[in-house]
Amino acid sequence: MRLYDSLSQEKREFVPRDGDHVTMYFCGPTVYNYVHVGNARPFVVSMVAKRYFESLGYRVTLVENITDIDDRIIARAASEGRSCKEVAEEFAQAYREDTDRLGLGRPDVEPLATEHIPEIIDLIAKLVAHGHAYQAGGDVYFDVDSWPEYGKLSKQQVSEMRHGARIEVGESKADPLDFALWKGAKPGEPAWDSPWGPGRPGWHIECSAMSLKYLGPGFDLHGGGRDLIFPHHENEIAQAEGAGYAFARFWVHNGMLNLSQEKMSKSIGNIRTLRSVLDAHRPEALVVALLGSHYRSPLEFSAELLEEAEEQVGRLRNMFRELSDRMAGAGSEEVPAVHSGSTAEPGLVPEAKPFSLSGVGEVRPPNGTTRDSDFRGRMAARRQAFAEAMADDLNTAAALAEVFSLAREVNAALAAGELGPEGVAAVRAQLAAMLHVLGLDAVTSVRDEIPPEILALAEERQEARARRDFARADALRAAITQRGYEIRDAPGGYKIVPTR
Ligand SMILES: [Zn+2]
Repeated sequence: MRLYDSLSQEKREFVPRDGDHVTMYFCGPTVYNYVHVGNARPFVVSMVAKRYFESLGYRVTLVENITDIDDRIIARAASEGRSCKEVAEEFAQAYREDTDRLGLGRPDVEPLATEHIPEIIDLIAKLVAHGHAYQAGGDVYFDVDSWPEYGKLSKQQVSEMRHGARIEVGESKADPLDFALWKGAKPGEPAWDSPWGPGRPGWHIECSAMSLKYLGPGFDLHGGGRDLIFPHHENEIAQAEGAGYAFARFWVHNGMLNLSQEKMSKSIGNIRTLRSVLDAHRPEALVVALLGSHYRSPLEFSAELLEEAEEQVGRLRNMFRELSDRMAGAGSEEVPAVHSGSTAEPGLVPEAKPFSLSGVGEVRPPNGTTRDSDFRGRMAARRQAFAEAMADDLNTAAALAEVFSLAREVNAALAAGELGPEGVAAVRAQLAAMLHVLGLDAVTSVRDEIPPEILALAEERQEARARRDFARADALRAAITQRGYEIRDAPGGYKIVPTR
């Protein structure tokens, strides 16, 4: 696998530090508000990278911090007459809820800055002892001049950076380029004791301290948005290396999401938060929209992009529905299509099976026809191309294109009657394996796609019908229709079909 490293500015062979264990750190959000949809991109990149490494057989530890002490949190708390802790807890919880909805799983560790004050103080003390930090009033600053490699990630000369830099009112640093490691307490602000008096940590130091704590020196991969390269990641390197630790071996930066006013306002209004996007669109559509471009490219985010992704997801779902119907028709026990009244088991989803991308879904021709073996060849080629795309700097755009191409070929083969029951099962397994790596499992499960909320409405309607309350039953049918599903009565039960 080759991965682009922003520090060396080249694609390099990725070999983990610890053999079969991959160690990753991504910068997470500062929780002073609902997260912007742009925050979903590094989250998706990190989770898809984790899934990809796991599909190759690696064990992965992904750490993603939550910044729960910051000027913006303090400002919001003050303006609302609440404590910083209350504000941070509210929006950290909202962030977890929003990112949970993406269906990608969670990072392995999500440390809070305020729970790592001792580690942060320890790192600052080391920097002071090494002569890379100094106390000024109640603050402690990193001495940029003492660190000759400063600027190596952002490719800037210190002399150029100094041009135009200035010391703000209230800052007691000696050089405008120096940055705060510890901020002395101001009245009314949360504060922790330290060797330099009561105060709180700066933003940059928390990431150096927490990545080193959970992953150890020289961990494999550090990621985040491009906008964090300077000063945040430049400072993280200076802090860790200045204290004597090897830092990240690969720097992975995702491009920004551009939400042009004109494009966004057309049809979806002012959708800006991840929450509002997920209220209006299926999570898989957002994931497809994000993975449809290379993670390093900037992405023009628009209503059209989301609508196109919705259509792509819809086509994949239809194909899986068709494959499942064929399997059910062939006597498979998987995925019953009819919910039978109160005996339905909403939310019962088969356990995900472990798999690897290699050797999944070999099609054996049921009747040895030439067309069937042609199809088998195309399927193997798609699988190979998918694996190569992911191995080439996580090129999810090319990998996704292989999924869509294969889906088109499957639809054509189904229409032409080329696929026997074994072929159907094999191609379904291969597509499911590819989609799992991309975090799109929801697309593959016909049963899973009916949300519990819809199942509950359908059950309530069934009960209303049983007691001959047809007005209520019709109202519930309308509610289900409004949510994008159609309820079709079938002998002994009913069927729920998505309409969009
Ligand atoms: Zn960070």
